[in-house]
Amino acid sequence: MHGPGHSHAPMDEDVLRSREGVRAVVQSLVVLLITAGAQGAVFFWSGSVALLADLIHNVGDALTAVPVGVAFLLHSKRAEKWAGMAVVAAILVSGLIAGYEAISRFISPEPVTHLPAVALAGVLGYVGNRWVSLIRLRAGEKINSPALIADGEHARADAIVSLGVVATAAVVAVGLPVADPIIGLLITVGILRITWQSWALVRA
Ligand SMILES: [Zn+2]
Repeated sequence: MHGPGHSHAPMDEDVLRSREGVRAVVQSLVVLLITAGAQGAVFFWSGSVALLADLIHNVGDALTAVPVGVAFLLHSKRAEKWAGMAVVAAILVSGLIAGYEAISRFISPEPVTHLPAVALAGVLGYVGNRWVSLIRLRAGEKINSPALIADGEHARADAIVSLGVVATAAVVAVGLPVADPIIGLLITVGILRITWQSWALVRA
């Protein structure tokens, strides 16, 4: 689900020094937030915890652009560190909420409804992440930034994670509702792993 090198690394500052880099970072942020917002609406509607975990992952990825943006605007390394820690804390808390929700569905199962909408939200997650991956890879190659290219590859991997939500909707539809908390928990483990990696980076 998350290959090696998949981390919520703070954006490279050199990336933000170029107009092309800033544009790619801002566009990625907007696309991921819109994707997660639409997925959030479907979550409230359907109660799918797999979808909840995926959208939390997408918000987390969107937020990783914030610390360096803050450092860039305030010209402060200290501000970047604090913003980075705040983002890691926010991702950790939301990851724990996703895990808690998934585990409570094992104990007291609740039906997942509106399965076509859940599948569509997964497709949206796929499309959003693929789009972000293209934005980052294109800009990364143009300004020759390994950091941006790595983030582009990260988004490409996350597109596959979103397909897990489509698979969940299909498996629940054929009569195995336990697929929802199982996939929700798997995606949560991925979120917690990248939270840990981000923490290691911010702390350094
Ligand atoms: Zn990710």
